[in-house]
Amino acid sequence: MPVDYHIHTKMCGHAYGEMEEYIAEAQQRGLGEIGFSDHVPMYFFPSEQRDLSIAMKEAELPLYVEQVLAMQQKFHPYPIKLGLEADYVPGMEQDLAAILGAYEFDYVLGSIHYIDGWGFDNSQYINEYDRWDLYELYKYYFSMIGSAAASGLFDTLAHPDLIKKFGFRPEGDISALYSEAVKKIADSGVCVEINTAGLRVPAAEIYPNIRLLELCCKSRVPVSLGSDAHHPEQVGANFREALELLRTVGYREVVTFTGRKRNYLRI
Ligand code: ZN
Ligand code: FE
Ligand code: FE
Ligand code: ZN
Repeated sequence: MPVDYHIHTKMCGHAYGEMEEYIAEAQQRGLGEIGFSDHVPMYFFPSEQRDLSIAMKEAELPLYVEQVLAMQQKFHPYPIKLGLEADYVPGMEQDLAAILGAYEFDYVLGSIHYIDGWGFDNSQYINEYDRWDLYELYKYYFSMIGSAAASGLFDTLAHPDLIKKFGFRPEGDISALYSEAVKKIADSGVCVEINTAGLRVPAAEIYPNIRLLELCCKSRVPVSLGSDAHHPEQVGANFREALELLRTVGYREVVTFTGRKRNYLRI
């Protein structure tokens, strides 16, 4: 089993267990390496709008970094990487760059969880889907994915088709949206993440789906691997399935990151 690069901590307010428990689970499952990638503080909202059940406070970020570094010491030589899951919000690139530049992250996952302030992956706001033409929504979402790639802020794009989370899917063919996004991804040199959390939500499908993953593979976009664990028992969840999907599509390696530099691991 290779690496799990998408693991949360209870600091974000909606994950459970101690960091040691996530690490123990990873070792038990035979993962060669893991990375913590908790949610960045909600830098893109004014302080009074920041929901502490979604992300840590700004003041907690140095503590998070310290805790991951302490785990590296404690479990040495088991490789534990310092990652971060950072929201991409158009117009806020400078603010994010300042946060990312303040620490020596091994990698940064780029995520889109908000469309014009709407937390579309939050079941609390699920009614908002009714207000959209789904094709237009997907088009907007995938254009943002392209912009996130082009921003150069991220090492890999997390759950690249998260917009399908609750199973709202346009009826027509969306392959043109995929191709445009993949072109921007390939041009930018960013990786995409294969994320097994999609299997645990109504979409019931790994992120990204096979069509999108095939396009990524054809364009030689490297992939990272993550479970999006919010509970220790989710570490490495469904990785057999993920690896099988990767091999089916034509991938033979996944990436690892150290100090935001890439390496490759055979799968
Ligand atoms: Zn989360
Ligand atoms: Fe996410
Ligand atoms: Fe996550
Ligand atoms: Zn996530």
